[in-house]
Amino acid sequence: MENKEVLIKVDKLQKKFDVGKKKLTAVDDVSFDIYKTETLGLVGESGCGKTTCGRTILGLHKKTGGHVYYEGVEVSEIKKRKDIKDFKKKAQIIFQDPYSSLDPRMTIEDIIAEGIRVHFPKMKDAEIHNRVSELLKMVGLNAEHGARFPQELSGGQRQRIGIARALAVEPEFIVCDEPISALDVSIQAQVVNLLIKLQRELGLTYLFISHDLSMVKHISDRIGVMYLGSIVELADKESIYGEPLHPYTQALISVIPIPDPDAGIKDRTPLKGEIPSPIDLPVGCKFQSRCVKCMEICKESVPPLKEVKPGHFVACHLFD
Ligand code: SF4
Repeated sequence: MENKEVLIKVDKLQKKFDVGKKKLTAVDDVSFDIYKTETLGLVGESGCGKTTCGRTILGLHKKTGGHVYYEGVEVSEIKKRKDIKDFKKKAQIIFQDPYSSLDPRMTIEDIIAEGIRVHFPKMKDAEIHNRVSELLKMVGLNAEHGARFPQELSGGQRQRIGIARALAVEPEFIVCDEPISALDVSIQAQVVNLLIKLQRELGLTYLFISHDLSMVKHISDRIGVMYLGSIVELADKESIYGEPLHPYTQALISVIPIPDPDAGIKDRTPLKGEIPSPIDLPVGCKFQSRCVKCMEICKESVPPLKEVKPGHFVACHLFD
């Protein structure tokens, strides 16, 4: 990244949920920066806390510890109604499920116009109509789609509406929360390419959350790998895919399907063993029950996330 201006600083972020008398640790002391106009990919198996992390950054979940700074301002300390509204305008989300995230009783135009009316109250109806038409074209649809209802559109078209709705308020930062996982494989690349194009045109910054490592590679500049609420590795995408250091990252990458079977057999190390419960985490490294390189120290102390090469962070005792 040439442009290293930090937009968002996540510092020891923690989110725990009450489960009866116990606590479920969804996000556990997570720290990273997101630079302006980059895409930071956040990957890991389902249930690893990546969606909760994205939502907690936006304040959709109340954090239980740590800090999130947006342009140097602690998000939870934004108190004035006007400033909260301003933050909501700057930081948007595209949801995973385009089927349930759009109100079936509203036309597409009303869905996209909703945020415009809130954040640009002086805009007249005719201007809003023109802006909605422009947004529909930006996401590869046409103005006629505005009169339709969500259920009249395909999954890919609905996700384009979700993107247009997020763009309508002119954000700087978008959490893309598994935006392609509910779509047909044939449509997924189209939506990812659209997000890349929009980022270039509008100078957007993305946190792209996904369990699909091949799609994350396509869109991301840097990638954070999450396991049971913690970042276990963070680096630029070339390092993550070319030289993964953490045994968990190595296992995830080794099982990515190879498009060309003749390209060579990869050394596959599929993940085995039970994932510990986030309600009852083990002492030491959380990955110990599935790690082929587990040592005695791994059962005694938590490996901290350390920078082992410039810009390449890993949390593993192999690099102590
Ligand atoms: Fe494996 Fe130990 Fe590294 Fe954890 S700290 S990933 S158990 S080697």
